[in-house]
Formats: sequence, structure tokens, C-alpha cells
Amino acid sequence: MKSFRKELWFTIPTRRGFLNITPQVDDCLRESGISEGLCLVNAMHITASVFVNDDERGLHQDLEVWLEKLAPYEPVAQYRHNIGEDNADAHLKRSIMGREVIVAVTKGKLDFGPWEQIFYGEFDGRRKKRVLVKIIGE
Ligand code: ZN
Repeated sequence: MKSFRKELWFTIPTRRGFLNITPQVDDCLRESGISEGLCLVNAMHITASVFVNDDERGLHQDLEVWLEKLAPYEPVAQYRHNIGEDNADAHLKRSIMGREVIVAVTKGKLDFGPWEQIFYGEFDGRRKKRVLVKIIGE
């Protein structure tokens, strides 16, 4: 069995944002030389997510509004976590959107359903953060 590991670095210039990282994961798969197996992609930070969904602008705005309703940034003082920091909402948003995705690798390609793409979700940005890509198989 072959095994491949790579860290991808992203800096989202705003506090929150979504980035389609499918091209970078595709590059990892090509680099790995693996054609049958599994590809894990996870955020290595507790205020960011990796998730699969549609690359559609309206949907991303809907997600932003929905997450802000569930875990609003302000008032900052509403959260017990916010003693000396202000990112409790980001921890909660990450919990909702998830830590990782696993995508099947078939015939050298990420085996997606229709419209599926891999996204990095940032909830406390403006700094460098890492995503881990681990691919195992033959
Ligand atoms: Zn925190």
C-alpha cells in the first residue's frame, strides 16, 4: 500500500470565507501516484472546516447567513470561551461544518458525485492555516 501526506497552507484575508481547494487536492492525488484508495482532507485548526458541497455563490452566501444565525460573532461577550479572545463563534461554526472529508479515489480521480467540490471554510482568518491531505491506496 502507498501512503501520501501533504500540508496545504491557506491565508484567507477576511475573518470568514470559503475557498474551493479541489484543484490543490487533485494536484496531491496526481503527485501521490495512487489510483485506487481513499483521500482524507482535514482542517488542522479548530476554527476552520473542510467540507464538500456545490461551488455556487448563492449557496456560499446562504451558508454564511445560516452560520451567523446559529453562532453569531457578536455580541462577543455572550460566549464563555471569549476571555482574552473573540473566536468562540468560529469554534462553533467549525463544529457545525465539520473537520474533514474522505473522498474515494477511483481510476486516479477523486470519485465525486455531481457538483461535489472540496471547500476550506475559514471562521477566524487573516492568518496562515493548514489543511492536511492524506491519501492511502495502490
Ligand atoms: Zn478560541
